[in-house]
Amino acid sequence: MAEHLVKVLESYFVTHDVKRFKVEKPDGYDFIPGQATDVSINKPEWENELRPFTFTGLREWKHLEFTIKIYTHHDGVTNQLGRINAGAELILHDVFGAIQYKGPGVFIAGGAGVTPFIAILRDLYYHKNLQGVRLIFSNKTSRDVILGDEFKEMLKENFINIFTREHAIGYLGRRIDRDFLIDNIPDFSRHFYVCGSDDFVKDISKYLLDLGAKPDTLVFEQ
Ligand SMILES: Cc1cc2nc3c(=O)[nH]c(=O)nc-3n(C[C@H](O)[C@H](O)[C@H](O)COP(=O)(O)OP(=O)(O)OC[C@H]3O[C@@H](n4cnc5c(N)ncnc54)[C@H](O)[C@@H]3O)c2cc1C
Repeated sequence: MAEHLVKVLESYFVTHDVKRFKVEKPDGYDFIPGQATDVSINKPEWENELRPFTFTGLREWKHLEFTIKIYTHHDGVTNQLGRINAGAELILHDVFGAIQYKGPGVFIAGGAGVTPFIAILRDLYYHKNLQGVRLIFSNKTSRDVILGDEFKEMLKENFINIFTREHAIGYLGRRIDRDFLIDNIPDFSRHFYVCGSDDFVKDISKYLLDLGAKPDTLVFEQ
């Protein structure tokens, strides 16, 4: 298994519990938007604790970027990542496949499940290729939306927020269910990309198949 020791160049919170890390990019290191790698922290008690995280930057950038939800209620890797800053060292491992772009369609994300879509949508935007792409992003509240302004800028009216625990003016306060999908998806013959918790992916995939999506147009990752 390949190991690459890299320095954190910059890190800061982008929401109350999601932190962005800009890190050095090893020579020759490359990925396809949507792919991930196992990451550990280069400290004696943490170097063997590997956790998967998705590359969220553009592959054209000189650095790598990760966008990581920090869980502080137990002392896992993300809790430690919440405490480290520029100059700390991470160990990156092999790149592995997760969700990859197959063609225009609807991206449906729950919470931090949006991370592979950050990379894919940034790549499509950079290559002026976002026609026919829509993002439906479900979060508990508006505080939890990761990169909301950037998605709005890229996707305009094709960026749809839904909040499960908030009824703010101008937003939809409900869960994604069958009726929501009927109202917000004009055409079920497109590709669908679904990423979130196990239950989120299971529920949404079932609704989509019931509504006529073809199994081979469904790309999902839990
Ligand atoms: C392919 C892939 C790509 C991913 N990419 C990203 C990404 O880009 N960004 C991102 O934020 N996440 C991503 N994840 C999820 C990420 O890997 C996990 O959030 C991370 O591994 C959590 O590590 P941890 O050590 O902090 O928590 P772990 O100890 O691994 O715990 C994981 C889960 O169990 C719960 N848990 C475990 N132990 C306790 C305890 N004692 N008390 C309470 N709760 C507990 C935690 O709340 C958490 O939900 C990805 C996952 C996969 C599979």
